Amino acid sequence: MGRGRPGRIALKEDIMREGSLEAPTRHAHDWRSPDYLDPTRVDAELRRQFEICHGCRRCFNLCDSFPRLFDLIDAAGDAELAGVSTPALKPVVDACTLCDMCFMTKCPYVPPHAFDLDIPHLMVRYRAMETARGNTPFVARQLTRTDRNGRLAGLAPALANWATRRGNRLTRPLLKLAAGIHPDADLPRYHADTLEKRARAGAPPINQSAPALGRKAVLFATCFGNYNNPDIGSAARAVLAHNGVVTELVYPECCGMPQLEHGEMEEVARKARSVARSLGEWIDKGWDIVALVPSCALMLKFEWPLIEPGDEAVRQLAAATWDITEYIVDIARKEGLAPGLKPVPDGVVLHLSCHARAQNMGAKGADLLRLIPDTPVKVVERCSGHGGSWGIKTGFFPVALKVGKPAARQAADSGCGHLAAECPLAGAHVAQGIEGIDPASRLKSSRHPVEIFAAAYGLSGGNR
Ligand code: SF4
Ligand code: SF4
Repeated sequence: MGRGRPGRIALKEDIMREGSLEAPTRHAHDWRSPDYLDPTRVDAELRRQFEICHGCRRCFNLCDSFPRLFDLIDAAGDAELAGVSTPALKPVVDACTLCDMCFMTKCPYVPPHAFDLDIPHLMVRYRAMETARGNTPFVARQLTRTDRNGRLAGLAPALANWATRRGNRLTRPLLKLAAGIHPDADLPRYHADTLEKRARAGAPPINQSAPALGRKAVLFATCFGNYNNPDIGSAARAVLAHNGVVTELVYPECCGMPQLEHGEMEEVARKARSVARSLGEWIDKGWDIVALVPSCALMLKFEWPLIEPGDEAVRQLAAATWDITEYIVDIARKEGLAPGLKPVPDGVVLHLSCHARAQNMGAKGADLLRLIPDTPVKVVERCSGHGGSWGIKTGFFPVALKVGKPAARQAADSGCGHLAAECPLAGAHVAQGIEGIDPASRLKSSRHPVEIFAAAYGLSGGNR
């Protein structure tokens, strides 16, 4: 609708970057090139980029990948990358959660700089090579089939939730054996009343006293919002209806972020083309597209156009997509919000998710919460350490908790009564980290900021 969503690489005023003064650009994934999967070329590019990181080291505390790399180099002969074998570099790639923070917030050497660094996309390329060589375990790939898994679990959600519950001594050891899931990892719950089913029961009534904004929004449910936490979508629809926005819930299929984690480029590209065509019919009729989960918004806005750069429907979808927090803040700025927000006096601490930051839209989750009057809002910017399906795996869960400990510590020490996170997986992971630091903490679970916003309007449940 041409309301001027910020350009996708307008970093400078939104995200503090050390070094480069030029706004970064990003190359398309060159995944159709025969060179893309060539092990010799992948190794050469890995070493070229890692050599620059070795000389720089400013990402030493962002995640576990960089410390692994620098430790390997420091232990090698002459403390040079040349002394590190190619197989020894695999754990560096394995530890990457694809949070995008090195590219988005730290690195002064990303394009258009001549060094041309893009560590997250390089990690994707390495994983694509591993998957093509058959080195990605079958079970790991099955875990990423979120639509199939969600539909199956939704047939008997009580059984699925019992079996996946943390502390189930019968099933969790089996899950560890069969699927490589760490027994202590908190797993998403499943619901019989998916967001799609709730939508079939009808849209929330439009607040007739709200100003007529003329906005119409398709909510892209996302797999997590559909199967694992339909309350996010219900809250979003209630807030938008209260502000006079007509909504429809549309969910063709998952955005493919879980497949991107394994470098399954062909499958992600297929999803991009398919979903872009479905949602394109709405865009052509003047509807905005609003994604409920930041990783999925990131895919629609930024990753898909870099995976299918020649596809007009994908490009059109990227331009029409909003993150839910960004969309409501835009309404507040341009048209003003309907009255009725009540304070949350004991305050909210927000974990600013990496994939929300990576959207170059500013801290919209925090901006949204600050629209609630007389409500203290604190923000935690450190990575939660979760990283999608990565953080639940037996080999990585302890690392995920370690990486997320500073974020959990900041949230635990915030003095706030409520924990929020745009990314539901990150929020649950931070809550689990807090549990380890301060078992008596009030912050036992996390909600999406839009759920807290809806509650502040009195539209759902009230703030617990
Ligand atoms: S994308 Fe995130 S996890 Fe991966 S190397 Fe960069 S900062 Fe580390
Ligand atoms: S990604 Fe960039 S900022 Fe980070 S260590 Fe490598 S060269 Fe330095």
